[in-house]
Amino acid sequence: MKPDSNDLASLRHKIDDLDRRLVELLAERGRVVAEVAEWKRAHDQPVYHPAREEDLISRRRAQGLGVGLDPDLVEDIFRRVMRDSRQTQGATLASHGVRPGARVLVVGGAGAMGSCLTRWFSEAGYRVAVLDRDDWGRVEPLCEGAELTILSVPIEATAAVAARLAPHLPARCVLADVTSIKSGPMAAMLAAHPGPVLGLHPMFGPTTTSLDKQIVVATPGRESAACQWLLDQLAAWGAVIVTANAADHDETMGFVQALRHFASFAFGQYLYRKGVDLHRTLDFSAPIYRLELGMVGRLFAQDPGLYAEIIFATPERRTLLREYIESVAENVRMIEAGDRDTFIAEFGRIAEWFGPFSDQAIRESSYLIDKLVERF
Ligand code: NAD
Repeated sequence: MKPDSNDLASLRHKIDDLDRRLVELLAERGRVVAEVAEWKRAHDQPVYHPAREEDLISRRRAQGLGVGLDPDLVEDIFRRVMRDSRQTQGATLASHGVRPGARVLVVGGAGAMGSCLTRWFSEAGYRVAVLDRDDWGRVEPLCEGAELTILSVPIEATAAVAARLAPHLPARCVLADVTSIKSGPMAAMLAAHPGPVLGLHPMFGPTTTSLDKQIVVATPGRESAACQWLLDQLAAWGAVIVTANAADHDETMGFVQALRHFASFAFGQYLYRKGVDLHRTLDFSAPIYRLELGMVGRLFAQDPGLYAEIIFATPERRTLLREYIESVAENVRMIEAGDRDTFIAEFGRIAEWFGPFSDQAIRESSYLIDKLVERF
């Protein structure tokens, strides 16, 4: 039986009341999270605790199932709530330096990444100085008493800057960099500075507003114990540290960055050359195409110099990209001959090689597609 309008009004009133209580509960949860942040601040604990989050999600999913809720809905809600908690905690902890008052020198501090580093360290109570292109005349006073120096200059300038700067650094100063490649810069820093050396590669750009769950690759150089406080600081801001040696880092990044960005460049370049009407293609598109085009469009909204640096960084990368182009070109004969059998056989081999990752890929990309459909 349908509710009459009075019943409907009272049902809506009930929903309003429940929603109000949900908001009050979220606010109460937020106050407890703030207490947790204070505790972590006092005990130098990182924001992100993966095991605790996964445990919480599993328990809430099970609870949801028990009361007839879709566990995916429960997980979605709690992941969003937890992200907010991490950001609240990150903001509290940002004001807390692991070594407040320590002197930090950011070389290239006027640049995109350099200004982020300068802001984060300043907000956490460090005494931050910047040495940019025109400041070499003041190198002595700028280096004086520095406990940490971070090089944030263009990739091709890192080695020369390390060599020029190092003689002015205090012996115990930690010399670090944020260069997107690691082998050359690490060798240059180790050769130039006899003290502690640590390589970093933040896997995010300067538009990032929070370090929450952002990955930073750390490449140990020398005296890891003396460098540990820098990693603790990054973790306190919410970053996840992944350790890799320079050669491993550079080889992996060839695929993660150079190949990925080059493939996006080639896709965008082809659309441009064909003069494709992007909006028209979107009118006809499945969400997966929209997602793909979004990734490609995103590349062309950014600084070409940065991508040129990443793509042309080393001779190994250029070899990798040449091999990629040759590998794509090998398909020409198959396409021209309309050879479906070869395509299907090759597809099968690749699918087998991808193995269980395919399930993860379906799960994660379906999640993104659902989000895209929900929002646009
Ligand atoms: P940027 O061009 O915005 O900044 C570089 C800065 O270095 C500029 O202020 C420039 O004046 C300064 N500089 C150049 N030569 C110098 C010299 N000889 N002495 C002193 N200062 C000098 O570049 P960016 O995007 O901030 O990149 C800086 C570093 O960060 C690069 O090594 C890059 O690989 C790395 N990185 C960048 C990103 C990103 O998304 N931008 C992400 C991760 C890592």
